[in-house]
Amino acid sequence: MKINKALYKNGNISKEIQAIKLTKNEYYKNYRGNLFCTEEKCKAKLSFVERKGNIKFFRTFPSTPHINGCLNEVIYEEIGEKLREKQFVSKINLSNKHIINKLESAFTRFNKKDNETGTINVSDGSKKYINNNSSKTKGNEAELFDEGTESKDGKEPYIITRMYNEIEKDDDTRIRCIIGYVHNMQLMDKHGYINLTPKKVDSVKVHFAEYFVVNNETEFNNMKIIESYIKHMKLNKKQIICCCIGRIKYVESGINIILDRYQGFTLNGLKYYEIVGYMNDLKSK
Ligand SMILES: [Zn+2]
Repeated sequence: MKINKALYKNGNISKEIQAIKLTKNEYYKNYRGNLFCTEEKCKAKLSFVERKGNIKFFRTFPSTPHINGCLNEVIYEEIGEKLREKQFVSKINLSNKHIINKLESAFTRFNKKDNETGTINVSDGSKKYINNNSSKTKGNEAELFDEGTESKDGKEPYIITRMYNEIEKDDDTRIRCIIGYVHNMQLMDKHGYINLTPKKVDSVKVHFAEYFVVNNETEFNNMKIIESYIKHMKLNKKQIICCCIGRIKYVESGINIILDRYQGFTLNGLKYYEIVGYMNDLKSK
């Protein structure tokens, strides 16, 4: 059973929204954070989910349960293993600080290994979830896009780091830290990509999708500065190492890493505004 309608509440305004009539853009622009369960007295908050094949529905925020006996209480979004897993693993939102620290250490570690041995191996298998329930109770999983809950004890969840060519099927839909070399950047009107591989069937791309654009408007509008940095480095035959944290999504063309904020990536260890600064310095010389 999926939730098909939600109640939009904002001040005095209150209206019913049908999931099937909603688009992601509209959701992020107008409704995010203000959608609730339609049952009387139920205070559960809902978020909008859109999947391939025009499948649209609302999902309950993990931090806001339905009242006892609410008709929307039992939600079978995913069957079997995934559903069971959800009950054991709490999804914790990542803070900017944690993301910045993680990207910094990933870059440092990668750079060191790359210089020492010429080989790359940063995946940490020991922290992966093993498929038995006892181990699942221990771990918290990282979450972005405000879809998790806030960390209660201030502890941030562990983020698994992988090279772009070592992403596994099991990483699909999860938050990962990915390291790769920049091939090029593609900027469109309402989204953009940093390609980590040449265009082919199994391409790996950092995706700045609608969620990124809506929530990081200024940064997205200035993304051509990032593109000019990439072009500048390429022109000087320099490598660009990209570290990013986002949601892994298997798509027809390969794998997308979907970012939710501008703090979510670095190029050669430089953060977004450091790259902007670098390009400004270059111009003034
Ligand atoms: Zn409810």
